[in-house]
Order: sequence, then C-alpha cells, then structure tokens
Amino acid sequence: MRTFVVKYTVMNKLKLGWIGLGNMGNPMAKNLIKAGFEVIVFNRTKEKETELTEAGATSADNPQQLLEISDVVLTMLSNDEAVKAVFEGKSGLLAKEQPGKLVINMSTVSPETSRYLSEISDKHQLNFLEAPVSGSVKPAQDGTLIILVGGTAESYNKAKPIFDVLGKVSHHLGAVGAGSSAKLAINYLLALNLQGLAETILFAERNGVSRENMLAIVNEGTCGNGITKLKSPSILNNSFPAAFALKHLVKDLRLAKEAGLDAPLIHPLFDSFNRAQNMGLGDEDVMAIIKSLKQN
Ligand code: NAP
Repeated sequence: MRTFVVKYTVMNKLKLGWIGLGNMGNPMAKNLIKAGFEVIVFNRTKEKETELTEAGATSADNPQQLLEISDVVLTMLSNDEAVKAVFEGKSGLLAKEQPGKLVINMSTVSPETSRYLSEISDKHQLNFLEAPVSGSVKPAQDGTLIILVGGTAESYNKAKPIFDVLGKVSHHLGAVGAGSSAKLAINYLLALNLQGLAETILFAERNGVSRENMLAIVNEGTCGNGITKLKSPSILNNSFPAAFALKHLVKDLRLAKEAGLDAPLIHPLFDSFNRAQNMGLGDEDVMAIIKSLKQN
C-alpha cells in the first residue's frame, strides 16, 4: 500500500494576519493559506496583496484593523525601522488596546529591537514572539525554513502549528533576544561563505581557471556546501536577481557588530558588503558581492 505524506491537511482554526509580502512574506503567507489557515494580509504597497487575495486571503486596510480581526499577527518586514513603524505607527498594531493576542515578528532585527518590541507589546497586553528565519526564498516556498524563536513557552506552543507549516524545524531558544542573536550569528557564517566563494572563484579566474571548472571543484569536494551549490548558477550566468537582497545582509552584519560581534573577520566583511551596497548592488542578490570584488 502506498503511503502519502501530506504536510497540509489540518483545517486550522487560528485566524492569521500577515504583514509584509516581500520576497519572503509572499511565499510564507501562501503556504499558510494552502495549509488551511484563514489569512488576512496587509502590505504597504497594496498591489503586492493581489497574488495573495487571488490565493484566498482577505485584505486589511492597516495593521490595527488586521490585528482586530486576527488571533495571531505575523510580520515579515525589511528591518528594525519598518517593524517599529508597523507596531507604533498611527494605525499600527499598538494603536488600539487588543489584549491577549499574539504578535510574531519573523523579520531579522537586532536583539535590542526585539526586546523593545516585546516590552511595548507587554505594555499593551499583547503576547510577543520573535521568530526570525534561516533559509531564503526556496525554503520559504517549500516550507522548509529553520525558525529561531525567542519568547515564552506558552506563546511558542500556540505558534507551533504555524511554524510547522512554514519550516522544517523551529528551535525555541529562550527569552526574546535569543532568536535574533542566533539569526545574526548564522548570517555571519553566510556572509563568510559568500565572500570566501567569491574571492576563490575570482582568484582562480584571474589565473586561467574557468568559473565552471572552479565551481565544480568546490562543489564536488568537502568545501562545497548548500550555499556554494545554491549560488553557483548565478555566478555562472553572472546574473543576480534578489532572493536575499544584499542590502539586507549589510543590515544583518551591521546589527551583528552592534550586538557585540568583534571577531577578526567581521570588520572587513562588513566593509566589503557595505562597499558593494554603495556601488549600487543593494537590491541585487547577496551573491552580487562577486561583482564588486571583481572591480577591485
Ligand atoms: P523584501 O522583499 O525587501 O520585503 C520587505 C517588506 O517590508 C515589503 O513587504 C515592504 O513593503 C515592507 N516594508 C519595508 N519598509 C516598510 C515600512 N516602513 N512600513 C511597512 N512596510 C515596510 O524583504 P525580504 O527578502 O522578504 O526580507 C524580509 C525580512 O526577512 C528581512 O528582515 C530579511 O533580512 C529577512 N530574511 C530574508 C531572507 C531572504 O532570503 N530574502 C532570508 C531570511 C531572512 P513594500 O512592498 O511596500 O516595499
């Protein structure tokens, strides 16, 4: 007898509000709809809601209204400023007292901002979880993100059915701040990998070894890993449409420095990605670091 493993079966009763339909938020919200959740969306640029409403979501006028009609609200926004604006803005999540609801920030922000969001939520009797993710657009589409959670066990348990749809695993790491710290740490390793791969390919190329041959050597050996394999096609095609925009990694490296990372490589690494951003590569994919290094 054949056994079918179906991830999306249960009709979910929690009403979910989703704010932020960028590269990550769009596929994540879609997966929740597919999983049977009732999903209400809000995005600053309203046109980006169309794909979701066509998939079955409804739309809210602003974050405050979204929270009013949801049990749980999730945010997936660019950076600290964007998340604060959505919480504290005129029609933001905190504009009206709505005690007992759960708000989950999945954007990458500093541990300090995350603790601040937790405090202001607490003052408004909202429960708060941080849940940044490791993994990019493909894992977001496939529901195989790694979710790094900080907050109370009670809120984590409430959110677990949502995390089970969005990710292959969720780690409850402790109090708010732990999830953001883990996220900044893993993105430091990501940046080291990207910089190392770009430098390796350019060094080989300058000495007569083709990109194709050098990438094969990397990926066939023990130095090859998920990220070297994932980014190889873009290096070969010299084309870098954003899966993870370079400007977001610059932000994460800056946040890691501000959170106390003072290791020997963080400073040149930040300078390198920051230089690439200043060259106009911020909206391209993180692997576009190779374009800026080639010009050195
Ligand atoms: P993105 O494509 O740039 O989308 C950003 C979203 O934030 C958009 O919905 C944008 O709205 C919204 N936004 C920005 N500023 C805002 C403001 N002031 N008020 C309201 N909304 C605002 O970003 P993404 O790639 O989805 O990344 C989202 C978060 O996940 C970031 O923190 C990133 O570091 C993190 N992350 C990304 C990846 C990845 O591979 N992409 C992987 C892991 C984690 P508009 O549509 O109106 O611009």
